[in-house]
Amino acid sequence: MDRKLFLKSLAIIPIAGTTMKLNELNKITSNYNSTDKMPVLFMGHGSPMNAIEENEFVTGWRNIGKTLPKPNAIICVSAHWETKGTFITAMEKPQTIHDFGGFPQALFDVVYPAPGNPMLAKETKNIIHKTEIGLDDKWGLDHGAWSVISRLYPNADVPVLQLSLDYTQPAQYHYDLAKELASLRQKGVLIIGSGNMVHNLSMVAWNKLNEPEYGYDWALEANSEMKKYILNGDHKSLINYHSQGKAFELSIPTPEHYLPLIYTLALKEENEKVSLFNDKAIGGSLTMTSLKIAEE
Ligand code: ZN
Repeated sequence: MDRKLFLKSLAIIPIAGTTMKLNELNKITSNYNSTDKMPVLFMGHGSPMNAIEENEFVTGWRNIGKTLPKPNAIICVSAHWETKGTFITAMEKPQTIHDFGGFPQALFDVVYPAPGNPMLAKETKNIIHKTEIGLDDKWGLDHGAWSVISRLYPNADVPVLQLSLDYTQPAQYHYDLAKELASLRQKGVLIIGSGNMVHNLSMVAWNKLNEPEYGYDWALEANSEMKKYILNGDHKSLINYHSQGKAFELSIPTPEHYLPLIYTLALKEENEKVSLFNDKAIGGSLTMTSLKIAEE
């Protein structure tokens, strides 16, 4: 290219000030080439101890990990990052956050040094129109993200971003927002919702935590209703969880552990199948039920 042409091409950028042209520019700066559609996960994370203990749930996570193509990056919606407005982590090196108390030192010693990806954070911000996504440089990885992801990718060689939960918004908002993430699946981005379908910490039977599959009647009832709705594709009933009666009320006393499920389900497409794993209750008032959505 001669100098004159080069200057001319530079001049195009400032005039390309329309929204559409800017969007095109954003596409050019995108990180990743097209891939097959990445599956989507909902992970029941349970106790932070799952990050360092060996048990059947951790085995279930590892097994599901083996069925996944290696992602280019992960975006995790964790129950443990609630904000006013929606944010995405945009730092190069997210810190490992030990957002709990009363656990052994070994758990506080865990560091999960997966890198971030500021460019993917910006790209995600650009594809979401439901709201203005804030770029965050302070959070990092909370235990909802790292306790699970460290078991899927122990080498910490996949960049991880977190998308926060706007606690001021209803389930329908989260469902609509999640749908706008869909195109990232074709860039090799693994989207993970991390929470628990049934999660009532104030009612945990602490003395029965080691008893296998111990669930109160209402917890088992809600879990099985939720599964029915999930497998029938009845997302509307799951979004309207407030109108599903007493068992749901007890299972979802606060929405933060349930909403990551809504993100995962919103990404399911017509031709895709839901597979359940770790489908068990623990401590009476929690279920570890998890799911993978993928093309058959
Ligand atoms: Zn949790």
